Amino acid sequence: MLIVMNRGASDAQIDAVIHRIREAGLSEHVSRGVERTIIGAIGDERRLEPETFELLPGVEQAMHIVKQYKIVAREWHKEDTVIDIAGVKLGGNAVQVIGGPCSVETQEQMNLAADHVAAAGCKLMRGGAFKPRTSPYTFQGLGVTGLQYFRDAAKRHKLPIVTELMDVRMLDTFMEWDVDVIQIGTRNMQNFDLLKEVGKVNKPVILKRGMSATISEWLMSAEYIAAGGNHNIIFCERGIRTFETAYRNVLDVTAIPVLKKETHLPVIVDPSHAGGKAWMVPALSRAAVAAGADGLLIEMHPNPCEAWCDADQALTPQELKDLNGTLALIAQAIGRQLNG
Ligand code: PEP
Ligand code: MN
Repeated sequence: MLIVMNRGASDAQIDAVIHRIREAGLSEHVSRGVERTIIGAIGDERRLEPETFELLPGVEQAMHIVKQYKIVAREWHKEDTVIDIAGVKLGGNAVQVIGGPCSVETQEQMNLAADHVAAAGCKLMRGGAFKPRTSPYTFQGLGVTGLQYFRDAAKRHKLPIVTELMDVRMLDTFMEWDVDVIQIGTRNMQNFDLLKEVGKVNKPVILKRGMSATISEWLMSAEYIAAGGNHNIIFCERGIRTFETAYRNVLDVTAIPVLKKETHLPVIVDPSHAGGKAWMVPALSRAAVAAGADGLLIEMHPNPCEAWCDADQALTPQELKDLNGTLALIAQAIGRQLNG
C-alpha cells in the first residue's frame, strides 16, 4: 500500500498515518521528498483498506500497488514528471540534448567544448571527471580538478552540468561543486549503497541502465533512490549487451515506450555508448526521439581525434549542431520541442 500525503502535510498528520499502519501489524517506509511525503506500508496489505487512510487529514491518496516498485510507478502518478535542472526542464514537452565530451581533459578543452555545446543549442552539458575504465592502466579521469574545470567552463554559458559519481565518498565533494545532475553509470546501476546515498540528496540523478539489466531490475534500482526521498530520477538507456559484436552495444529502443508506460519519470537515451562509433550516433538519436525519448546524452569533443577517452564515438562540434537541426524537425513532427 502506498499513501501519498498532500503537499505541506504536517508531521502530526504523517505520524497519524504511521500509527494506523503499525496498528494493523505492518511497518512503514517514509520517503520525504522536497515536494511531498510518500509512505509505503510494508507487510500483509490485505489487512489495509485505502479508504481508511484517505479519511485521515493530510492524505491525498492511498492505493494498493501490485508491482514491486511503487514511487517510480505510473500507477500512482499518472502525469509525466518534469524535472527542473537549475532552471532547465527535462520531461514533458521538451526534448533536451545533453552534449559534451566523454571526459574532462584540460581547461581549454572544456572551455571550447562548452562554447560548442551552447552554440549547437544545447541547454545542458556532460563530462566525466571520474571515469569507470575497463583497464586500470588507461586514463581514469582528472578527479576533483576535473570538476573544477567543468564548473568554470560551463558557467560561462550558464550550462547546468551532468557528471558521473562512482564512489559514495565523493558525494559531499559533488555537492560542494554544486554538480547539477549526478550520473550513475551502467556499472553502478545495482550498487545499492551508492543508490541509497544519492537518494538522500536533493539533486537530479541520471540512472543509466546496467549493461545486462532487465527493465524490472532497472526500475527497482530507481526505486532505491526514490525510497530515500529523492524523486528526481531520469532513466538513461545506453545500449545493452547481446550476442552481437558488430557494434559496442545494442540500443534497446523498445525500452523507451515500455518505460514510459511503467514510470512517470523522464527517459533519455545515450546513442554514443550504444553504437560506439560517431557515424551511428545520428541514426540512433533520430530513432530515440521518434520513439518518445525525453532527451539524449551525446558525446561531442572539440577535436575527436585527440580525445583521451571514447574518441571513436565523439561527434565533432559541427556534427552535433547539424544533428540538433534534424532532431528539431522530428521533435516538432511529434508535437515536442527540442532543447525547449
Ligand atoms: C559515460 O557516460 O561516460 C559512461 C561511462 O557511460 P556508461 O556508464 O553508459 O558506460
Ligand atoms: Mn564515454
